[in-house]
Amino acid sequence: MKLVNINAINSGSCRYCTWLQQWQHFSHQQLPQFCPVLTCSRHPEVGALVQKLGDADRISYIIPLCRECAALHGEIIVVLDTTALVPVDLK
Ligand SMILES: [Zn+2]
Repeated sequence: MKLVNINAINSGSCRYCTWLQQWQHFSHQQLPQFCPVLTCSRHPEVGALVQKLGDADRISYIIPLCRECAALHGEIIVVLDTTALVPVDLK
């Protein structure tokens, strides 16, 4: 699954925590043991904002990522197809 990392830093680590908690709440999944990026084996620590590559609706989703992958703003990341995408607008 190809996603674009659109994570914009705006309010620091606490915002990440909230997104990660939102992902855990709505995905009904445990935090994965490893970052879902295929080429990465670090531990997921933050909730990152992504969009599906080529998605005309431009819906923003939260996925868990390690800090290094979360910092790849504007880049295309390839993640496991089983990764749950939680729309960010849910509250
Ligand atoms: Zn990673």
